[in-house]
Amino acid sequence: MSIKKKIMQKKIDCPRCWVEARREEVEIFGPNIEIDICPKCNGIWLDPGELGKLLKNKKLTDYLTKQIGTQSKSELVCPRCGGLMDIESAEEVQIDVCLNCHGVWLDEGELDDLKGKSKEGFRGDDIEKAQEKWEELAKKQREQNLRRFRRRFI
Ligand SMILES: [Zn+2]
Ligand SMILES: [Zn+2]
Repeated sequence: MSIKKKIMQKKIDCPRCWVEARREEVEIFGPNIEIDICPKCNGIWLDPGELGKLLKNKKLTDYLTKQIGTQSKSELVCPRCGGLMDIESAEEVQIDVCLNCHGVWLDEGELDDLKGKSKEGFRGDDIEKAQEKWEELAKKQREQNLRRFRRRFI
């Protein structure tokens, strides 16, 4: 077994309640997947790739897990890798995505909400993504200016 696979099979603690999540097999088209569910709050942890398999909607999945910035707006810490997480939203549904390993945390009901979005034919909120990109750019610019500023005085 590869190291990566071993890490993926390690049990995780719920990032909200800090109790151990239970593993549950989910039947999907293709090989079944195992997801982690918190027994207390019913939140779900999905490792990279699992959200896509459950939603069967590449656009929505990519929108939520690929086009993410580097700023962390979530108070959660990734239960898999300990990385910072950010809040990504598909219209009114807001989920937590790890900026490092791209796993996702779904609170109770959010998976169904996303499945609903997927069925409706999600098109994406370009304005919101544009705003995020702009923030990202502004941050880079600020850092650059700061570096330039420092250099002048060294
Ligand atoms: Zn929990
Ligand atoms: Zn992570």
